[in-house]
Amino acid sequence: MRCPVCKAENDDAVCRRCKADLSLLVTLEETRRNFLAEAARAAASGDGARTLEHAEAAHRLRADHDSWRWLAVSRFLLRDFAQAASYWQRARAVK
Ligand SMILES: [Zn+2]
Repeated sequence: MRCPVCKAENDDAVCRRCKADLSLLVTLEETRRNFLAEAARAAASGDGARTLEHAEAAHRLRADHDSWRWLAVSRFLLRDFAQAASYWQRARAVK
């Protein structure tokens, strides 16, 4: 995770470069990971609405390739193929 103060990459709750407290960021990323895991579980059971709900929750915390991808999967499950294709394009455009 990237320190919002100095932009250093970190694995710990204290920035290795500027010593900023990153504990809130750690909590946010954990929460986001849980939302993505819930999206995956909902998708595995074919529940598009719940997949969308969890993918959107993760996406609101931080948008990246995974959140766009799960948004695409949710729209696919909901048979909204145009939106699924659009989200998949966005997923492919970001890392
Ligand atoms: Zn820092």
